Amino acid sequence: MSLNTEMVLDQQLLPIIEKVKNGQRLSLEDGLTLYASTDLLTIGQMANYVNMKRNGNHVYFIENLYINPTNICEARCKWCGFRRDPEEDGAYAMDEEELLAYVEKRFNPRIREFHIVGGHNHTVPFEYYVNTVRTLKKHYPQVTIKAYTAAEIVFFAKISGLTEEEVLKELMKAGLDSLPGGGAEILTEEYRKKMSPDKATTDEWLHVHRLAHELGMKTHATMLYGSIESLQDRLTHMIRLRELQDETNGYLCFIPLAVQPKKATASLKMRTSAFDDMKTLAISRLMLDNFPHVKAYWINIGTQLTQMAITFGSSDIHGTLVEERISHAAGALTQSGITRDELIYLIKGANKQPIERDTFYNIVEEY
Ligand code: SF4
Repeated sequence: MSLNTEMVLDQQLLPIIEKVKNGQRLSLEDGLTLYASTDLLTIGQMANYVNMKRNGNHVYFIENLYINPTNICEARCKWCGFRRDPEEDGAYAMDEEELLAYVEKRFNPRIREFHIVGGHNHTVPFEYYVNTVRTLKKHYPQVTIKAYTAAEIVFFAKISGLTEEEVLKELMKAGLDSLPGGGAEILTEEYRKKMSPDKATTDEWLHVHRLAHELGMKTHATMLYGSIESLQDRLTHMIRLRELQDETNGYLCFIPLAVQPKKATASLKMRTSAFDDMKTLAISRLMLDNFPHVKAYWINIGTQLTQMAITFGSSDIHGTLVEERISHAAGALTQSGITRDELIYLIKGANKQPIERDTFYNIVEEY
């Protein structure tokens, strides 16, 4: 595949195109030039070129089930519509029986990943979180457990008195296989102090992922964009992840998440624009040259933009989920789950090949 430069409208992009062609790393300044450009098609073409070189025509998805064992949370992230105080209406913490009933009702034998995140619930001990993993592993040993964001791991260390490494080891003993990418939001302290002041710091979040990689786990990384952060913040976030990936090579995938605007405390007047969504996905692919995959998260940007994103550098459209709650509590307008047939239809509609995967991108089935 070649990169066609005849149709480039923005001449400022020419040096970046040269770098991309030569496989050279992009700088923060290059990222700012890309964000400043309105030549979306050239940026998308570059991202598609990079992705095709890495992943060919394959676009991945998974049959997975989202589980949020508790919504009680001592933190107060500004955009969050999911959290509850312990006595508040709608607050819950599933016990073992409720957890198994929840899963049994939604399970089908093709599901190969449980994606588990929840609130920082200080009314239950660390053992509650370990037991959640242990119980699910015992009843569904064939299913991969991708559980608890790095921010939750830092919280568990706080309530248990253990180190983050000891927390990870305990959870791994119980059956933890991988960490999801949440809790990263924007990895700058200025942002975190304003938007999620009660949660893991930038260094803590990165430290947990470094530890997980050193313990042999593969993990994921998100970026919650579209609120108060600057474009420089977004690029700094990407570069911090890229530097850690250089050290450990433990990340599987980068997932840009468009912030949802329902919560008044987040002071968001509007949703992210389609233009910004497409540009951010493409720029992520270009900046994160050492990440195997960039994921288009259909829950937050809708299925139609997701389909477009797979020709703008994304190689993954996530999964069936069955019942997503956190983005929907924050105002997502999409359905809360999707069928495998719909995912296949989206991928084929963009002339790509759908690949059903497991958590670690091993091929389960090609369509
Ligand atoms: S985003 Fe997570 S940590 Fe933050 S308030 Fe909501 S549930 Fe708690």
